[in-house]
Order: sequence, then C-alpha cells, then structure tokens
Amino acid sequence: MAETATAKSSQSLRDPSDAPPGVRFAMRSHPGRVRGDNQDVCAAVPGLGIFVVCDGMGGAAAGEIASKIAADAFVEAIARSNTHQSDPGTPSSSLSISSSQRIRLSEAVAAANGAVYQRAQKYRALRGMGTTLVAALVGCSEDGGVASIAHVGDSRCYLLRGDGLRQLTTDHSVVEEQIQAGILSRQQAEFSPVRNVITRAVGTQPQVSPDVLHQALEPGDILLLASDGLTRELADDEIARIVVSSASLDEACNDLLGAANFHGGRDNITVLLIAKD
Ligand code: CA
Repeated sequence: MAETATAKSSQSLRDPSDAPPGVRFAMRSHPGRVRGDNQDVCAAVPGLGIFVVCDGMGGAAAGEIASKIAADAFVEAIARSNTHQSDPGTPSSSLSISSSQRIRLSEAVAAANGAVYQRAQKYRALRGMGTTLVAALVGCSEDGGVASIAHVGDSRCYLLRGDGLRQLTTDHSVVEEQIQAGILSRQQAEFSPVRNVITRAVGTQPQVSPDVLHQALEPGDILLLASDGLTRELADDEIARIVVSSASLDEACNDLLGAANFHGGRDNITVLLIAKD
C-alpha cells in the first residue's frame, strides 16, 4: 500500500484543507493479477494542488524504491517552492503563472531525478533503477482553472471533457518515436516487442528533461493520471465510458482498476482522477 503511506506523509507537509476551490480527487493503485509487487506510487497534496503518479523500474525491489523516492522528492520540492509563492493557483496573469509553474515543475522533476540517481549510485543493488513520473499542478479560481502537467516516460495525463477523452502527454517511448516517424501504426505498436522501452526516465541519468504543458480547466473537466498498467489494458473510449458512468471519483478509480484487471491485469495499475467542479 505504498500509495497510502506516500499520501499520508505528503499531506503532513501542509494542511490539506486549503485545497484549490472546487477541486476533488481520488486515487488508487493495485498490483494487478500477474505481479507480486507494486512498483507504482501515487501521491497527492491537495493543499498544494499537486498530484503525481510514478511507475518504477529496476530489479528486485529497486523499482518500488525508485518510484517512492521520486514521488517524495518531487512533492517536497513543490512544497519548498510554494513558500516563495503566496498563492500558486490564482490566475493573475496566465503568462506569469505558466512560466512560474513550468519552473517549479522542472525543478521538482530535477530534485526527484537527483534523489533517485544518487541513491542508485550509492547502492550496487539499486544501479539502473528509475521511474516514470507524471504530475499535475492544479490551480483554480471560482470560474476556471489551469493545470500544469509535467511528465517523463510513458505514464500519461488525459483530459476528460464531456464524454471525450484526450491524451495530453506524448509518451517518451521507442514505439511513440516509431509512430511519429511513420514506421509503426498505433495498432502495431501494441504488439511491438519494444513497447515497454521508454526513452526518458527519472533517476537513470544525472539529468533529465521533462515535458511541461498547460491545460485550461473548465467546470466538469476531469484529469486522469495513469500508469501504463491501465492504458495498455483499456482503450480510451472504455476509460471515458467508465469514468462518465461512475457515481463518484472513488467509484471510478475502483471501476477502472476492476476493468484493467478483467482485461488481464498484466502490470501494476494506478489511477489518479482530479475533477474541476
Ligand atoms: Ca508499468
């Protein structure tokens, strides 16, 4: 239950009661039906508007250690940067908000990368460990909001608006590069022997560069952060149908995990939903 421990320790950093107005969230992680361990981690500090999913990789317990270290270091860095900024969420100027959030997210990813990399250098058994990371930094006012999204690897962020699901992030993976180059179709990519190979990871190199994007949020929008254990098992339209038809965000998380396990549950599955009321 790594996600519970992470969420608890993260929330202790700051009173969660001052969450961005009109933002709800739910998250859940499951080992799936094949793997004995869970190398995924999800964490949230609603008071900071920060939500993160990591999917670790590495032999033995290294993947689990990498994802936990990365999520903790990332959240701590966001919390530290918040002390220099009185209100992270109120859009006074969209340009200044986006540039300052980009810097905060990039610095937090660098902190996560450094923490994992340094631990891996220190212990032979952990060499080469790494993790994906996808995070949303959400700020909302009464009439709208903005999410700044950072990612490294193939954990994804989607936007559900109405009943349409749109993938906001572009995977850092070999098959995504092959798709962009016209070598593979999306259907072919699902069966590629290198479909698991990512081209960027947190913690495997001294430095890593995240992609950062900004998404305006309208009332009713839902962001989904997920590891590939969800997105390999479920098509986008099925993910959308499940979330739209669920009575609550908690129920949607449970139903997504249930459906991914029904389809095989071949990997650890993590979902984090953030709703703008
Ligand atoms: Ca995975």
